[in-house]
Amino acid sequence: MKCFECHVEMSSYSTPGVVRHIKREFKEYVSVCPRCFKMVQSDTVDGIIKLDEIDEELPKGEIGIIMAIGIGWLMESLVLNKNEVVAIFEHIIDEGRDPWIVLEKLSRSSTTNVKKNINKARVQLEQLIK
Ligand SMILES: [Zn+2]
Repeated sequence: MKCFECHVEMSSYSTPGVVRHIKREFKEYVSVCPRCFKMVQSDTVDGIIKLDEIDEELPKGEIGIIMAIGIGWLMESLVLNKNEVVAIFEHIIDEGRDPWIVLEKLSRSSTTNVKKNINKARVQLEQLIK
């Protein structure tokens, strides 16, 4: 599956448990664009495409997917997804990861198409959590 806007292959995963816990209606699979973090949910996927890294700044493994979904929610709308965003980033912090460093790096990364938005979201998020 390709991102409609960026025309790059999206990474597809089975939705991590914590995400379904936070948002019950979330579907079985999720595909994430590595450039703009747009998410597409689906009940089936043609195949799981596990890119080792969605973005080199994201941690590898499931926590990286969880972080990508959190960023996807942030990019959609912090206002509309406030509860989900807070819950998922608190989970990430509980897991011992530092989302601020990742967001900071992403806001400078040349491969993401959403640098400015990420930086703005990072500042807003800092006011919500802590
Ligand atoms: Zn995209």
